[in-house]
Amino acid sequence: MTVDTPLADLGRYGKGLASRFRRLGIRTVGDLLYHAPLRYEDLSALATIAEARVGETVTIRATVELIANRRSPVKRTVLTEAILDDGTGKMAAVWFKQPYLTKVLRPGMRAAFAGKVSDDYGTLHLVNPVYEAGERSVHTGRLVPLYPTTASLTQKHIRALIHQALPALASVPDPLPDAVARAHGLPPLAAALRELHMPTASDALAAARRRLLFDGLLIDQLVAQRVRAAVRSAEAVAVPFNEAETKRVVAGLPFTLTDDQRRAAWVILRDMAGQEPMHRLLDGDVGSGKTVVAAIAAVNAAAAGAQAAFMAPTEILAKQHYETMRAIIPGREVALRTNAYREGDDRAPIVVGTHALLEDEVRLPHLALAVVDEQHRFGVEQRKGLQRKREDGRLPHLLSMTATPIPRTLQLARYGDLDVSVLRTKPSGRLPIITRVARESERAAVYGAVRTELEGGHQAFVVCPVIEPSDVHGARSATEVHAKLAKEVFPDRTVGLLHGRLKSKEKEAVMVDFLKQKIAVLVATAVVEVGIDVPNASVMVIEGAERFGLAQLHQFRGRVGRGSAQSYCYAVSESGMVPRLRAFAECADGFELAERDLALRGPGERFGVRQSGAEDLYAGAVDLTLLAKVQEAAKALIAADPTLAGHPALLERVTRAEDRIHLE
Ligand code: ADP
Ligand code: MG
Repeated sequence: MTVDTPLADLGRYGKGLASRFRRLGIRTVGDLLYHAPLRYEDLSALATIAEARVGETVTIRATVELIANRRSPVKRTVLTEAILDDGTGKMAAVWFKQPYLTKVLRPGMRAAFAGKVSDDYGTLHLVNPVYEAGERSVHTGRLVPLYPTTASLTQKHIRALIHQALPALASVPDPLPDAVARAHGLPPLAAALRELHMPTASDALAAARRRLLFDGLLIDQLVAQRVRAAVRSAEAVAVPFNEAETKRVVAGLPFTLTDDQRRAAWVILRDMAGQEPMHRLLDGDVGSGKTVVAAIAAVNAAAAGAQAAFMAPTEILAKQHYETMRAIIPGREVALRTNAYREGDDRAPIVVGTHALLEDEVRLPHLALAVVDEQHRFGVEQRKGLQRKREDGRLPHLLSMTATPIPRTLQLARYGDLDVSVLRTKPSGRLPIITRVARESERAAVYGAVRTELEGGHQAFVVCPVIEPSDVHGARSATEVHAKLAKEVFPDRTVGLLHGRLKSKEKEAVMVDFLKQKIAVLVATAVVEVGIDVPNASVMVIEGAERFGLAQLHQFRGRVGRGSAQSYCYAVSESGMVPRLRAFAECADGFELAERDLALRGPGERFGVRQSGAEDLYAGAVDLTLLAKVQEAAKALIAADPTLAGHPALLERVTRAEDRIHLE
């Protein structure tokens, strides 16, 4: 067994569970070994029955003397009761709603039982203890890891399979050069991964986490530095700043630019005039007005006799950008290239489109500026593909745009010293969206509020966490909600359905109907996240809001409040008001929310050790002292070995990360 062994080859157990692990993105033994616990449960206190004290969480090794089910008269559930004996005394164990346990735990069987000692019913007993047959300590008797999972995989499944995979640690290539590990006092990778899954002591676990964090950060820094080096060595297409043309466009806008827009445009135009290709990320919350900044850059390219291309992830977005460009750039031809639309000539100074722009027949020989909207929706190869449309070997300037607000510390960690412009302030004159967290019991009132908006001529979004009821047990699904709204709640209105299992043509058709107001209420899954402008939509209902991350919630909310009407967002939560939702309701600023999100999670609560970069790590706060050390180590490594050819294991991880994370 090595890190490349598919899970399906891990015996009967692996074979049976492989497809469920695939839903977590885990296919190989290596993926599994890199599946980091979210946290740990301390079941390390071993005790005999004689020693056990009320209130303690202990692991007891004992023999099952008796076990039986009975119906609880009070709670109307099934209770499983057992008597345990370890030679020092006897003790009861009680489980709720797990009648199958009488089939698993038989009288005479020896097992470990871990849980809290209670004396609620007058006798000492363990409540819902975790059990583990035999003498092993995978699920009990130690710091027990709790992993991120899906409904169909239990913690026991994951722990058991990881336990089985541990011998493959011997084949994990260690990407960190020995000298770096030594200089920073970091344990070897195999030891760190073993400690992560089978912690021996809290300080050893802390060292292991630090090591894995170091790797993740280092890989991201190396990716950033390699991108920067590649850009520096390429020749740019200098686009001189055209003051007259810029002023003409700005003067023709129906609004004045915000200071942030002005500043970003100025920096972009300065970059574009330079000898080095621009490689800049424009980061601004939904509605912060990124399009017009990109348009100003495009106008300058056009005025210089060159071309600008604008690539968006969907037909609708491309079409919207095309209309915007035509409206704000008078007197210059704008072309549109998507699978469905074909307007104007490819040789036009400004060409807007989807992935269709990448097709061979689209030639953009004079491309001087490539704009990629919603950059995370594109792969690195697609971005490069667009830049390669220029045919003389020079590199067009690149402006990537994202609506994911990235706090400063994360910017440093993820992008190193790459260039980022931020649109922090929103255009003035917008009414802030009123956000409320609603409980299940307030659903009728939420629907009432939606009806009021519909009666005012507006439209509504309803976002659900899953598509089908079977996707995640207990989560409200788009198909169910759609059926209910269409039949019972809004039978007099058209209710549409949009989700990721529709073909892209079908999705487009639904969105177009919504844009044209043929659909009043659109029930959707997270696919509505991407920047579509439906100014007439004034209310957003988020079902199962507690299941979404803050960033995602904020993206959903950004779908409304785009017109002049007062807009509303209702986050319906089955768990009531949790801290994340409180932050969501209180705060409308995406950057502030992102920072609060980090604070809520706290450092180290979640830290990613994916094989490709640090990704998940950004879900936790970044340790800036560690980051500074990592940056230095990355610089030193690149200075000594620019291609990293001398560090094949590291290079492997870095290239893998380059395919996954988008630095542009
Ligand atoms: P995003 O950053 O989400 O891509 P857009 O570029 O789509 O935002 O802009 C959202 C809306 O705000 C558009 O209708 C645009 O015309 C408008 N807008 C952009 N800048 C300003 C501004 N400075 N003042 C007022 N409205 C603006
Ligand atoms: Mg946009």
